[in-house]
Formats: sequence, C-alpha cells, structure tokens
Amino acid sequence: MSGAPVRVRFAPAPTGMLHVGGARTALFNFLFARQRGGAFVLRCEDTDAGRSSREAEAQMESELRWLGLDWDEGADIGGPFRPYRQSERREHYGWAAAKLIEIDAAYPCYCTAEELEAQRVAAEARGLAPRYSGKCRTLSKAQQDELAAQGRKPALRFSMPQRDIYVEDLIRGSVHFPAGAIGDFVVVKSDGVPAYNFAAVIDDSSMEITHVIRGDEHLPNTPRQVALYEALELPLPLFAHVSMILAPDHQKLSKRHGATAVSEYRELGYLGPALINYLALLGWSPGDDRELFTLAQLIESFSLERVSKSPAVFDLAKLKWFNAHYLRALPEPQRRALFADWLRRSPQFAGSAELQDETWLALLTSAISDHVEVLGDVPREAAGLLAGAPAAAGMWDARALGVLRQGKTPQLLHELLAVAHSCGDDRRAFAAATSKEALAALGARTGVKGRELYRPLRIAVTGQEHGIELPLLLPLLGPRRVAQRLGLALQQFKTGQERFAPG
Ligand code: GLU
Repeated sequence: MSGAPVRVRFAPAPTGMLHVGGARTALFNFLFARQRGGAFVLRCEDTDAGRSSREAEAQMESELRWLGLDWDEGADIGGPFRPYRQSERREHYGWAAAKLIEIDAAYPCYCTAEELEAQRVAAEARGLAPRYSGKCRTLSKAQQDELAAQGRKPALRFSMPQRDIYVEDLIRGSVHFPAGAIGDFVVVKSDGVPAYNFAAVIDDSSMEITHVIRGDEHLPNTPRQVALYEALELPLPLFAHVSMILAPDHQKLSKRHGATAVSEYRELGYLGPALINYLALLGWSPGDDRELFTLAQLIESFSLERVSKSPAVFDLAKLKWFNAHYLRALPEPQRRALFADWLRRSPQFAGSAELQDETWLALLTSAISDHVEVLGDVPREAAGLLAGAPAAAGMWDARALGVLRQGKTPQLLHELLAVAHSCGDDRRAFAAATSKEALAALGARTGVKGRELYRPLRIAVTGQEHGIELPLLLPLLGPRRVAQRLGLALQQFKTGQERFAPG
C-alpha cells in the first residue's frame, strides 16, 4: 500500500452518543489524514436497523464539527465512493458473499439463536472458549434442504481457516492469534444484513482505505477481517489499534464515572478546542513536554509511532485545567459573549436586563474569568458576586458588626449612598464615581483610607471580608443595588447602636 494516497475512516454506528473514546479515534484518523494530505472518510455503520437512527447520525456529525473536525467524504457530503451508509450499500456485499460460497470459504448456518446459546453454554461448561461449534459446516446438501424445508433461514458463516494469524499492528507490533482460537463467524445474517466484520472489510476495501485506525476493542475482530481479506484476495490495509481510555479507577470509562459523551462536555461548558487538545494527549504524546496544541499544531506533530500501547487514564481535573486555559486565552469579546450566553440559559439570569448591558457584561467577565473553569460555572460565579449582604436577615456576624460600628463607618456609608443615589440607574457614571481614585477621594472626605476605607464598604455591601476589588464590584452591582444594601447596613448599624448605646 505504500505510495498510495492515505485514506482513513471513522466508522461509528449511529446508535447513541459520540463517546470521548470515539471522538479520540476520529481525531487520530483526522490528524493522520490531514498530516499526510490524505482523505478522511466518515462512514456510517448503521446495519443494526433497530438501534440506528438518523438523529443519532446527525448528532454525531454535529459533535464532530463542534470539535473542529471535518471530513472529505461521508453520508452528509457524498464522495467518490458513495453511498457512505452501510444500510444503503447492500448491493456492494453480494459479490463477496457469492465468492466466499463459490470458493467454499463460507456455508449456510441454520442454527437458531436458542441453539447457538445452548452450544455456548455447553462449551463453557466444558471449560472451552465460547466459539461456534462448527455444527453446520459439514451438513450435506440433503440436510441443508431439510432444514430449509422447516422454514429456517440460514445465515452465511465464514469457515475460519485453521492456521495462525498475525496482525501487524502499527501501534502494537505483531499480534499473534493461534490456530483454532477463533470459531467460524457469521458474515451475512439470516435476514440478509451483512455482519460487522464482513461489511467493514468490503467497505474498507472498496473505499480504498489504506490505514484502519480504531479502538483496540476491535483487535479480536482483526484476525477475522484479515482472514476475510485473504479469502477474497483483497489487499490488506495497515492496522493501528488505539488503547482504550480508562477511568481513574482503571475500569473501563463508563457513565458511572461521570460524563462520557462529547455532548455532555459541550453542555457542561467545555470548549471544543480544549477537549480536542486534551483527547490528543490521551494515548499520544509529542515526545517533549509541550501540552498546549492547536488543531493545526496537532496535525503537524501527530504520529502513530508515538501513540501508546498502554491504556490512557481519563483525568477530569486535567481536562478542566485545559478548558480554563482555553477560556482565558479567548479574546475578551468572545469570552464575554460566551459568558452572556451561559447566563441567558440559566433560570436565575434569563431575562435579566443586565444581560443587555455590555458595560455590565464586561465588568462581570473581568470579575469572574479567573474563577471559571467551564462555562457552566458562569451563573454560579456571577450569582456569588451579586449575592446580597446578610443585612436584611440580620445575620451579620460579630466581626462584621464590629467593623460596621467603627466610628467613621456611618459617615462613609452615607457618602457612598449619596454617590449611588446621584447616579440613579447609570452604571457607567457609577463606575466613574467608584473608581480607585474616586473612592480614595471619598475616603479623604471622611478621613479614612486604605483598609479603613475598603473593609467597611465591602462588608456593608457584601457581608464578606474578601472578594474582587471594589472599583469592579460596585459598578457590577450597580447604583441601585448598592444604595439598597447601604441603606440596610445603615439601618442595622443604627439598630445596633441603639441596642448597644451606653447608658
Ligand atoms: N462500527 C464500528 C464501531 O463503531 C467500527 C469499528 C471499526 O472501525 O472497524 O465500533
């Protein structure tokens, strides 16, 4: 196959969501194709009519695009080897089935599902591997006719050659499957639908796939496919089986470990490029300590030789770290627009007038960016900032009360209250009136500065000792909220003073 233009494929069954493992397989195929100037084919393996759906197919395409991957041929865009849905390729398999029969490499199998299950149980009881017994391999023509007369519809079963098979794998090296390890397997089901191993071989061959890069859960299928290629005298593609992704407990990554579907990560507020960067490093490494890669850099650096044989462990904290990095690296207007989108979707902020106010959005973005790892954090962080002081509930703690009762505090709060009132609803004016310099001037009028100035103001407005800088927080809260909270704090102060007044 050397010299032929590279052609690879990602061949998902559209029966559910695109899993992170599938996304990584797609990514490795994509990177390999793009690096070699080859073609990346998206083939839809929808032979299981009961479980496949067009919705799942469209959803997978949309997730791949969201990740930033594109393909050169596929069910949605066509291409020289169309159709790309296996359910539409029925006529492409007939010749191969006929040839297998003609060369005596396949035979009709009349076993029912119940009989196969009984054979499997019997083999297991004798400590044998669950493989087909070979029962129908030796049926005479008369026996076949009799079974057919009973109304049984046969499947077509491939006679697995009884010899050692070596799969030459670009990642794992030579993998040995001893003679007799694999039983005869179905190539065409009794309803005429081609089985996976058969359809994959015929499609890979007729689509001129040069490299089959897929998850290593398919490694046991590969000797079967190799035997089919050989029986049909078709040139073999090269194989590369990528190790699986394990959960931190070293079990197969599954739902119980959390999100596994690309769409779930999308909905949690991960960015496509961050997920891509993270997935690329799950099983592949550049050979140096670089970790941050754009898709273009991955295309340049990727190589199958540096894909690991051992399983990769999914590390959510690391993925979050990547995502936080990508979010912070976005140009501010883009980050702001994303933050606004995520606030709009949250019940707490949907419909809030502040979302129309770019000044407010800019203040918010700068206030929370350092605390947002995934976009799903945005509403929580925003709500945290806007949360009111405990004044109304009379829940000041002793420390806060102590600060509020310091001599000049009421005067200070009155000063700021007057500023807030003078601004009405004008957030910009309030921002100017609460800038660092303006607050310092306000402090000077009251005779306080530094901590003496900031601490009581912050406690009065938020009930907290710490938080983002006041010149950012105050305009973010806006003059109305600030005025209202100052009013409550002053009331509290008054009540406290009355209660604690000497004499
Ligand atoms: N339809 C198979 C899957 O989704 C494809 C396996 C292959 O790449 O050959 O796992």
